[in-house]
Amino acid sequence: MYLFGHVGLSLLLYKAYSLASGENSMRNKLLIATGAMLPDFLDKPIGALFFQTGRWFGHALLFQITFLAILLLVERGYKPYPQMKSDVFILYLGSLIHLLGDLPGLGREVAFWPFYGPFPVGNTEDFLLGLQSPFTVVTEVLGLLVVAILAYLENWDRRANLFAVTIFVLYSCAFLITYSILVGF
Ligand SMILES: [Zn+2]
Repeated sequence: MYLFGHVGLSLLLYKAYSLASGENSMRNKLLIATGAMLPDFLDKPIGALFFQTGRWFGHALLFQITFLAILLLVERGYKPYPQMKSDVFILYLGSLIHLLGDLPGLGREVAFWPFYGPFPVGNTEDFLLGLQSPFTVVTEVLGLLVVAILAYLENWDRRANLFAVTIFVLYSCAFLITYSILVGF
């Protein structure tokens, strides 16, 4: 799954929670979507460029534990900020949802690193080749649809729409440029 798939899945799950709880906050949507992008923000640049794998430390359970520990330490340090606790929890939930989305095809060497040996390595451009998989393409389209439908149904304000469109444009450009350099058309 790529970025839009992860964002869409996290927002869809948050929507289900919103319908059950009655809580629907743009701040929480932003937090859960950011959390859902984090493992790839870490692994695509660092893992792919330096370790020849797009699924590196950010996709390991050890990262999730380390990330939670860091978040809890930060939350402790800034106790006076009352919303911090739930912010930290929602951000973390987003990064867990990322792993859920990547579960099909996530090898045990990555998920349980370092217990089953080192991260499998390939080529620098391997992480881009997911684009050739129907699963990735379908989940990307569905993810985009989820964002568009939520924006319409929930009547997102101008700032939120602008933010979503900016992310879409920046990510698409970055992806296409990287793809054309590393893989070529
Ligand atoms: Zn991923």
